[in-house]
Amino acid sequence: MPSDDQHTSQPLFNQFASDNYAGICPEAWHAMEEANHGYVSSYGDDAWTERACESIRRLFATDCQVFFVFNGTAANSLALASLCRSYHSIVCHDMAHIETDECGAPEFFSNGTKILHTNGINGKLDLDAVELAITRRSDIHYPKPRVLSMAQSTELGTVYTPGEIGAACDLAHSHGLRVHMDGARFANAVATLGVTPAETSWKAGVDVLCLGGAKNGMAIGEAVVFFDRLLAEEFEYRCKQAGQLASKMRFISAPWIGMLESGAWLRNAENANRQARLLADELARVPGVRLMYPCQANAVFTEMPEQATAALRAAGWHFYSFIGTGGARFMCSWLTTEQDVRNLVAAVRQACGEQ
Ligand SMILES: *Cc1c(COP(=O)(O)O)cnc(C)c1O
Repeated sequence: MPSDDQHTSQPLFNQFASDNYAGICPEAWHAMEEANHGYVSSYGDDAWTERACESIRRLFATDCQVFFVFNGTAANSLALASLCRSYHSIVCHDMAHIETDECGAPEFFSNGTKILHTNGINGKLDLDAVELAITRRSDIHYPKPRVLSMAQSTELGTVYTPGEIGAACDLAHSHGLRVHMDGARFANAVATLGVTPAETSWKAGVDVLCLGGAKNGMAIGEAVVFFDRLLAEEFEYRCKQAGQLASKMRFISAPWIGMLESGAWLRNAENANRQARLLADELARVPGVRLMYPCQANAVFTEMPEQATAALRAAGWHFYSFIGTGGARFMCSWLTTEQDVRNLVAAVRQACGEQ
């Protein structure tokens, strides 16, 4: 459990800890309410789930295969497991969520597939490093590279252009690898790029996308989207075995209808990005504060004096600082307002010794 807010049921106003601190947006909430009438058949065999899959097919303008699971760890792990055998390996960035934040679930669900991580600036893959990881060895003693995994947007709040994704996919495919995209914050990337979801996924070569719902404004649920339907073969068995097949599936699927058909998915991401942009611009002007990465989505990473982060915490602000001493990550969400941002900026100024 997060350490310091478990003793109160009061909402936190002074928080930029994560986009999953925000609640359920109205569009997702209403869709759940609408789905809550009478009896509906279970395990995804229902009209809500069918319509949600259709909405996702329409969003991506292609006949993809769609599955709904409870969270991002499950989505990534099961998607990766479906692409790999136990002696394969997955190439990703050092900072990838699948490497640092999933408690070994991708390896667990794939029965031992190894993750090979590579570095690259600003949280983005460096294709030379990727190629080296793929081609370093080709003998039987090395776990055979099978998947390139990339996050869009990245864990450090940066965004790949469709051209960059295309180049990564071309490289992966030329070596016989498949491409997995961790899209926990895919909507934020689309909002930044102003392109269609297709252009930053399958049209650029992505084979499987884990499309985020929770951080975008839903209660629970991520969609695993297979652009190559052959790769989805028997995926429903993986979901069931992993405890990821919801019996009351309609409450996971209906919110997708609410989000996609109303356009809330994009509006929510645009708001989060806009507030992060404002926050980044304002914090960059505070003496002693330095932005660590380009702000291209809804995250702002800063370096500031250690006393300043301590003072900010003492003043009751919630944020993560897992990135070294004095580093702080501020996340914006669909719920973040300009006033929230202004309040944080004022508090940072005060913590840095300004009035
Ligand atoms: C939040 C997040 C996920 C999903 O995490 P869960 O807590 O398992 O839902 C996956 N990838 C990235 C990059 C994330 O930020």
